[in-house]
Amino acid sequence: MTITVGVLALQGAFAEHLKLLQAASRSLVAKQPQTWSFLEVRTQAQLESCDALIIPGGESTAIALVAARSNLLEPLRDFVKVHRKPTWGTCAGLILLAESANRTKQGGQELIGGLDVRVNRNHFGRQTESFQAGLELPFLSSVDNIEPPQPFQGVFIRAPVVEKVLPHSDSIQSGEQKKEDTVIAPSRQPENIVAQKAMSDHVDVLAKLPGRAARLANRGLDVAADPDAGDIVAVRQGNVFGTSFHPELTEDPRIHMWWLQQVQEAVEKAQSETTLAVDKMVN
Ligand code: GLN
Repeated sequence: MTITVGVLALQGAFAEHLKLLQAASRSLVAKQPQTWSFLEVRTQAQLESCDALIIPGGESTAIALVAARSNLLEPLRDFVKVHRKPTWGTCAGLILLAESANRTKQGGQELIGGLDVRVNRNHFGRQTESFQAGLELPFLSSVDNIEPPQPFQGVFIRAPVVEKVLPHSDSIQSGEQKKEDTVIAPSRQPENIVAQKAMSDHVDVLAKLPGRAARLANRGLDVAADPDAGDIVAVRQGNVFGTSFHPELTEDPRIHMWWLQQVQEAVEKAQSETTLAVDKMVN
């Protein structure tokens, strides 16, 4: 079986994602034979040929504008929310996958949605305030041979933060609608039971950037650090995954490897559920 993974290539760091996908797939194939095909996505036909998609970092307003002009905005919403296929957004990609985003540009911007979260678009400041930080990502234990996994070097460039996990809603996040300079994604329903099952009511927080107190405590200083404090920088809801930082701007393929494993599981699960559903209809 070949699994086709697309990278939305309208603007931003799509070439870097493709490079790391290649590296990640080479490391994975050594463990379990699986054929992967990777492509740049610029048209609806290319998108429809994909089993999974990455939306890269860049500028979310620009990506949304070009997607709208290329008639890709609705197909993207179908891909993520109607077919519920595995999708990963990094930085600007995370903003586009949020159901609600604030501090958007004047005149707002379009969102795709799929993650019941509110992001704050430029939480970590301007380009000149970019930084790197070691992140503890326990989920990487499935690809790392060391327990706990080595910290992952998170690259933060005008990075958003998940400022609130929203209560799940089958329709639009109407509670968010009235907030000033906040935009929300339009609602779409999963197309069938298989897509419904790939959905989850629950947003998992996969990584936090420790707050200042925790950073000082880690350096051995005597400060009380609340382990729950800190900025949410990676989330997942069913098949949809988002990171504030840019794994594609590192040489470390571990998150790509982990995500490809998730994609493979999701594709196999959807296939067996589709077969079951068809069997039920026939019998
Ligand atoms: N904050 C940027 C935006 O609004 C995203 C920055 C990035 O992807 N590096 O699109």
